[in-house]
Amino acid sequence: MDCIFCKIIEGAIPSKKVFENERILAFNDIQPAAPVHILIIPKKHIPTMNDVTEEDGPLIAEMFAVARQIAKEHGIAESGYRLVNNVNKDGGQVVYHLHLHLLGGAKLSPLLG
Ligand code: 5GP
Ligand code: ZN
Repeated sequence: MDCIFCKIIEGAIPSKKVFENERILAFNDIQPAAPVHILIIPKKHIPTMNDVTEEDGPLIAEMFAVARQIAKEHGIAESGYRLVNNVNKDGGQVVYHLHLHLLGGAKLSPLLG
């Protein structure tokens, strides 16, 4: 399958891993948009949030739990951080393997307004 993130999961493309278990991988974004910019992905290939099914519920919950844990470990849980999921073209999605962006380590500009 021609998916960059599946290749990162397989180890065919190197990454700076932050967290890994049987279901989830987290690694540093190659083009950080903030001092902390980590991608949290399921090992299951799900193209977009639109493809998430009801049975993926626990997996999605675990992605958020991992994000919160990583934020704590980076000392930004209290100062704050942002979780972003881009969906399809207008949402700015470039890699079609579901991922959460964890952004923090600085005051982020408002998303709206
Ligand atoms: P999207 O725009 O799809 O929400 O975000 C994709 C993200 O993946 C971008 O922030 C981009 O910098 C990151 N990215 C793309 N290719 C690679 C790669 O090969 N390695 C890593 N670590 N990040 C990547
Ligand atoms: Zn994939």
